[in-house]
Amino acid sequence: TAMKPQGGEHPLTVAVRVRPMTEHEILSGCTQVAHTVDNQMVVLLDPTEDPDDILRVNRSRERRYMFDHAFNDIADQEEVYQVTTRFLIDQVINGYNGTVFAYGATGAGKTYTMLGTQDNPGIYSRALNDLFLLVAKYEEENIYNVSMSYLEIYNEMMREDAKGGVQVASLSEVSTASTEEIMELLQQGNMERTQEPTKANQTSSRSHAVLQVTVKQRTRARGINSQVKIGRLFLVDLAGSERAANTQNRGKRMVEGAHINRSLLALGNCITALSESSDKGARTYVNFRDSKLTRLLKDALGGNCKTVMIAHLGPASFHFEESRNTLMYADRAKRI
Ligand code: ADP
Ligand code: MG
Repeated sequence: TAMKPQGGEHPLTVAVRVRPMTEHEILSGCTQVAHTVDNQMVVLLDPTEDPDDILRVNRSRERRYMFDHAFNDIADQEEVYQVTTRFLIDQVINGYNGTVFAYGATGAGKTYTMLGTQDNPGIYSRALNDLFLLVAKYEEENIYNVSMSYLEIYNEMMREDAKGGVQVASLSEVSTASTEEIMELLQQGNMERTQEPTKANQTSSRSHAVLQVTVKQRTRARGINSQVKIGRLFLVDLAGSERAANTQNRGKRMVEGAHINRSLLALGNCITALSESSDKGARTYVNFRDSKLTRLLKDALGGNCKTVMIAHLGPASFHFEESRNTLMYADRAKRI
């Protein structure tokens, strides 16, 4: 049942992935406070003791959260891809939109899920591979044009990545053969992602990275009014969600923290509004103009789009507060 692919009626899917403890966390004596119970439930244990609670009234210091999918520390890249993203590839090849967000604090595993490593590629390359397989499969019936761009939203300003990224952005037609090339550029691009140290984390990623894939298709059949169908896939590695208030940032760093908060908040509001409106059958007003991120993703979040949020957790006691905030954000995004 772990591989149950998903592609239900609901426009929003919320998944949680708990990464393994690192060697450093184990060696420094951290306990594991975030676990999955089954493939839908996550438990978070509050590691702080309450000295006044001698009768242990609040014995149950654990909180349970249910999601569409919960991945534990041994879930591999293929499983996460199959369950969260594979169904979106069919959507996109059929002219619909699909979006995957990786949400979570810095170090929780967002980039591992989206980009992955050379040996263990993540969603980006698996999605592109399947997309090109489908293009090849249907090429006799349809003419396809696949284009991509990779951009970063940093401090609420959008820029097409100056070095690695822009090359990806300028590729208008992409062939299967170039998937590897694209992945190489993204690996480079990721290393160039703004990574000045903050007090909260040495490698805090402070920008949202968006890989956008556009698939245009036209039928080859003659006599049929050949309309162009356009499907879009957005794969988004969000900036770290740790709150500016939690770090000791000052000046420039503090302003950045506020911008990241603003866009993550706007994103959460849009997602909540969408899940509410789809439940009521009527569309409530969604304010996409609240941030650059949501403006860019207006197509992705509205209309016939399916959206998947993968919230990431570091399992160690050290990350308890961040994990709790992430679970609360994901819980709020979930269907109501
Ligand atoms: P983020 O992008 O959220 O800041 P990363 O993806 O860079 O976090 O992950 C932090 C570290 O943990 C990296 O060294 C990464 O390789 C490792 N890691 C994250 N998730 C996993 C996982 N599911 N399995 C193994 N290692 C992981
Ligand atoms: Mg990252």
